[in-house]
This record gives sequence, C-alpha cells and structure tokens, in this order.
Amino acid sequence: MREFDTIAAIATAIGEGGISIIRLSGDKALKIASSIFKGKNDRPLNNIKPYTMRYGHIIDKETEEILDEVIVSYMKAPRSFTSEDCVEINCHGGVFATNRILEEIIKNGARNAEPGEFTKRAFLNGRIDLTQAEAVIDLIKAKTDLSMKSALLQSEGRISKEINGLRQRLLGVIAHIEATVDFPEEDLEEITSKQVSNNLREIINEIEHLLATADEGKILREGLNMVIVGKPNVGKSSLLNSLLMEKRAIVTEVAGTTRDVIEEYININGIPVKIIDTAGIRETEDVVEKIGVEKSKEKINEADIIVFMLDSSRNLDDEDKEIIEYIKDKKYVVLLNKVDLNKKLVLDELSGLNMENIMDISAKTGEGIDKLKSKIKDMFFSGEISATDVMITNSRHKEALYKSKERCVAALNTLDMGISIDLASIDVRSAWMDLGQITGETLEEDIIDKIFSEFCIGK
Ligand code: GDP
Repeated sequence: MREFDTIAAIATAIGEGGISIIRLSGDKALKIASSIFKGKNDRPLNNIKPYTMRYGHIIDKETEEILDEVIVSYMKAPRSFTSEDCVEINCHGGVFATNRILEEIIKNGARNAEPGEFTKRAFLNGRIDLTQAEAVIDLIKAKTDLSMKSALLQSEGRISKEINGLRQRLLGVIAHIEATVDFPEEDLEEITSKQVSNNLREIINEIEHLLATADEGKILREGLNMVIVGKPNVGKSSLLNSLLMEKRAIVTEVAGTTRDVIEEYININGIPVKIIDTAGIRETEDVVEKIGVEKSKEKINEADIIVFMLDSSRNLDDEDKEIIEYIKDKKYVVLLNKVDLNKKLVLDELSGLNMENIMDISAKTGEGIDKLKSKIKDMFFSGEISATDVMITNSRHKEALYKSKERCVAALNTLDMGISIDLASIDVRSAWMDLGQITGETLEEDIIDKIFSEFCIGK
C-alpha cells in the first residue's frame, strides 16, 4: 500500500552545510540502507542495535564506487518519529553527494517522500494528533521566540488537552439531553434545560478565552507567572530591582480592572515573565505583618514558578520550614541569598528539596543572577514549567473554535426560547464536531492532505 511503503528524503536544508541527513522510514528502511552500506572491516548494517550508530561508507551498488563517508543511525518501530522503522544517514553536506545517496536509496526500493509525509505518518500511525503535527510546521517556520514557544507548547499537546476537555463536556451535554428525551414521562425537560444552558455558557466562555489568545495584542499576557516569596528583609525587592534593571524589561499597561494596573514583565532569556504582586514585594515596609505564611501560599498557588528566597546568613525558622514543606511538590527555585555574608543556614534542613533547584546568590552583588535566569530558561524549555495559558496561533484552529462557539450560542438560544431540547442537541453535536477538527478526530481526508502539503520535503 502506498500509504505505508518505505519513503526517503533529504531532511536537512539543501546547501553546503557541514552535514546532511537523509531519512528513511518504513518496513524496508534498514534493508535498503544495509544494501548500499559498507561498514568498517565489512561489518554489515543489518544487525545494528536500535538507537545506535554505525560508521561506514555508502556505495553505488553497481560500480562499488564510494559515494560518501557516513554515520547511520537506526530507530526501531514503534519508537521513532514516524512510529515506523527509521534510518538516518548522516553524510558530508554538499548537494551532489547527498543527492547521489538519495538516488541510490530510491534505486534500491524506497520512494521519494512527499512534503510532510514523515509527519503525516506519525499522525496516521497515531503517534501525534493534528495540532501536534501542525506544531511541527510552526516550529520549522517560527520566527520569533514567542511563536516558537507557542509551537512548543502545542507540540506537547496542550491545545489538544484543552480541546479534548471541551469536547468531553459537550459530549456530556449531549448525553444529558438524550437521557432526558428518552424519558419524556419524567418531566425532566425543564431541569435539564437549565443545567444544559449553564454548561453551555461555561463552555462558550472558555472558547472565548481561547479565541482571545489568538489576538496578537495579547501576546505579552502570555508568559510565565512567577512569584517571589520569602520573609521580610531576605532580599526580595533587591532581586526584583536587579531583574527589572535589565534594559529589556518590559512594562505594559493592562486595562480592564477598576483602576489600571501596571504589570511588569521581565525578559528572562527570551521568555516573558510576569512577577505576581510586585507591589506586595516593594511595599514590604508597611505590610510586613500582613504578608504571612497564608498570603504566601495564596500567591504560590497562582504561580507557574515559585522563587523562594532565604537569607543564608540566618537560620531557618518555622515559617520557612512551613513554606518549604508547601512548595516541595511544586515548581520552585530556592535562592540562598546574601552569600556575600557569612553562611549560617544549615543545608541539611533543606533536604526535602531538590538540590538542583537550590542556588546561592547575592542580590546585592549580582552574583548568581545569571545562573538563576538560565535555570528558569532550562526549566521552561525542558517543559518542566509552562505558562498556564495556551495560545491559539493557528488560523485553522481559530476558525474551528469560532464555528463551535456559534453552534453553542445557537443551542443556547434554542433552549432559552423553550423549544424542545433535542433540537438544541443537534447544534451541540455540531459544536463537538467542529472542535474535533482541531485535533483531527473529525477531519476529512482532503483537509488532512492540504495541511501536510504545507510542510517541506523531509519533514
Ligand atoms: P525584602 O524585604 O525581602 O524585599 O528585602 P530587601 O530587598 O529590602 O533587602 C533587605 C536588606 O537586605 C536590604 O538592606 C538589602 O540591601 C539587603 N540585602 C539584600 N540582598 C543582599 C545580599 O545579597 N547581600 C547583602 N549583604 N545584603 C543584601
């Protein structure tokens, strides 16, 4: 079957790079590669262990001419990008040699891959869903850090998670309506209608929230929510000031509250970070008494990442210990501040925490601040921490969300007018289908082909 024959393509950008990679995927990937590979001391390729590499040469089978010196790696199905057997041949860049190798592969039984076909296979084999496949396109094309980040989040499946949650709830609504229609004698209609209306309103709200993230103007509202907690005088405002002092600090005005509040964003190695409750930090003088453990816990719960600051020239007290206990299963960095002074703090008392997330700094001299930043960056890009909001950047997703919302509104109107509730269920079902288009569960074939044709060859 054409869908699953063995395909090959040059996966790296064509040009004079240091190396090029030719990718093969399909049942015969290893067999084909082995047939044109000549290992050192004639070691064959076909007994290569999965997830290892082998050094050798690719030869023209007819003339035995060496085409290039290569390293070949093997990823066994289903644990590969496409979920099929995959072989990657790393050769020495250069358009000519790379193309010759690809030709030789085709001659020996593979077919040239269409644009996006590797990713399409990953989708067809059920390894990724459609939003994740699209994220691959976006990642390839991403121009700014932020769109890159959004693509990364998406590829982790966060949009799908959100959409699946909404679909699940719509399904609940449908089931609820159907159960009522099945038992007309019980006179449940009115109660059901009310509950269903409430559910629909909530769902509409959430769709609107997702749609709002599609407006570029709100891009900066994305980003990580960070909270800095710690007892008075440990050095929180000093840290904040030195983070804000960076020229790239971004200050935006956010309207919409009773009085306009200024939210400050700092740019930590390209990631916009919003510090929760900067006012609370800066005004510690007046509110020393007020910021107790309880208040800290509240702030901790709002945050994507917690920066807990201790004064290393003092010993821990009960309040510190309580906070440590509270954050230990959350995402945190613990700063032992004032390392320029004599250390009193006993490290053993922090044994419940992950040592990798504990850092010495001095907010006063600036020591350790760069390390703190790269730590946050690493946590972000490894996916350990992420912003609570997902962002819709793909216009296809936006359109599907919009349609789905319209259907929900129509269902809501039907219910409000007191028309029989099974009519509303038709619209709810359409809303459910519309959302399914985003993840690919209710998608037609031609749209799938259109999406994958946007890829470049080799992806
Ligand atoms: P906050 O109450 O947690 O916001 O703490 P502040 O930032 O206001 O700092 C309290 C005091 O500690 C100030 O006098 C700071 O100058 C001082 N301080 C802050 N960080 C350091 C540091 O790293 N080393 C030293 N020696 N003093 C610091």
